[in-house]
Amino acid sequence: MARSDGRLSHELDPHDKGPQDACGVFGVWAPGEDVAKLAYYGLYALQHRGQESAGIAASNGRQILVYRDMGLVSQVFDETALETLQGHIAVGHCRYSTTGGSTWENAQPTLGPTAGGTVALAHNGNLTNTADLRDMVVDDQLLREERNIAHGRRSRTRATLKSTSTNDTSLVTALLAGDPDHTLTATALELFPKLKGAFSFVFMDENTLYAARDPQGVRPLVLGRLERGWVVASESAGLDIVGASMVREVEPGELIAIDEDGLRSYRFAETKRAGCVFEYVYLARPDTTINGKVVHTARVQMGRVLAQEHPVEADLVIPTPESGTPAAVGYAEESGIPFGQGLVKNSYVGRTFIQPSDTIRQLGIRLKLNPLRDVIRGKRLIVVDDSIVRGNTQRSLVRMLREAGAAEIHVRISSPPVKWPCFYGIDFASRAELIANGLDTADICASLGADSLGYISVDGMIGATEQPRNQLCTACFTGEYPIELPSEDRLGKNLLELPL
Ligand code: SF4
Repeated sequence: MARSDGRLSHELDPHDKGPQDACGVFGVWAPGEDVAKLAYYGLYALQHRGQESAGIAASNGRQILVYRDMGLVSQVFDETALETLQGHIAVGHCRYSTTGGSTWENAQPTLGPTAGGTVALAHNGNLTNTADLRDMVVDDQLLREERNIAHGRRSRTRATLKSTSTNDTSLVTALLAGDPDHTLTATALELFPKLKGAFSFVFMDENTLYAARDPQGVRPLVLGRLERGWVVASESAGLDIVGASMVREVEPGELIAIDEDGLRSYRFAETKRAGCVFEYVYLARPDTTINGKVVHTARVQMGRVLAQEHPVEADLVIPTPESGTPAAVGYAEESGIPFGQGLVKNSYVGRTFIQPSDTIRQLGIRLKLNPLRDVIRGKRLIVVDDSIVRGNTQRSLVRMLREAGAAEIHVRISSPPVKWPCFYGIDFASRAELIANGLDTADICASLGADSLGYISVDGMIGATEQPRNQLCTACFTGEYPIELPSEDRLGKNLLELPL
């Protein structure tokens, strides 16, 4: 239950983590505004996408300063820290680690030199050709050193792997150093087609804010307008919180540059849309709009479809707080069975700094959830959740509801069984740990101790998003990966922690 820093985790059951998102990114170009505070609030709205570390870089046109640390946005920044970040451009990041461990060195934005100054880069997603990029950085280093020796200069390596960071973002930062004769825009346009995997980048040099998205648009990224500037954010909810109006998505395969000359759009690749369907199921905020669809509406519809596909006689539909709520509402509406709150979540327990005692630790999910016994006793319950990873949370939940007097417990899940790992920025359990990898639905139901179990179908889930099937990634459910994967030895979270 305790994290290594002594704080409690945010999970209902820390040994059964839900899918972990791989970061939120935010950028703002707004002369005359307090850009660091705008970035702070933007990150606040994106905190659900990454809770391990947070950082903001700001430029005043002459230099870039970055402040970053481990922890939540509210723990990393205070007024004093934000006051040091003066200027008219800022990029911010909140991190959950995918490639590279959860360490201070891997916190973002990362800084690196460019031909004309400095670049600060924030990344949401995960690259799949990290090993190739590492080789490119090493080749670049050697080339530069050879050039320096040939010109009788002291060796000064711009792009270095000698740093202690071990994430794919630092490799991209190193490669953005580029050729001394190239602008940052030209270097980015040359580099980005060589990247494989998922990337929503927000980056800047001293004078320009940039945003770019992989050709599949796996992770969301949107552009907004302030009265006196521009904002880019992982989700539209990040625009709303700073009062920016939504302009449009950053298109898959597009690079945007914003400076005093206005906004310029470049294409570095053709769009081959394959947006992550899990953003609609669980990852994004319900008040976010992705490719024209409000996430909350998609989740309610998933609940409706679930009721059509897996009906059962019961007295009450209850959600697993809070991510199961919209689908439970949809299930109740469609089935005509009343919706109710059977579980109360202790929202603040994850924020304590106190190391739990052994007695508290053994309480498991009871530390986070408490059943409403009067509501549950004697009832046939339908319990709606968004996904099952290892199954430990749902097993504890079923036990807790039985102890509270439930007559029957029917578990309904608003996503299909998760059977495959994600290489595009979401950290599930390993394939061996996924309960649906080895067991069929009847076995999983027995393992949870439920009276029945029903998952939405892949078609039902896709239909609820109103996105064309061939424009979504569904790999963790179907094993069909839309972006080619390298061999297993060139993949993995800790790849860059291994010796070269
Ligand atoms: S594998 Fe699953 S979680 Fe990963 S991008 Fe595809 S749909 Fe999203």
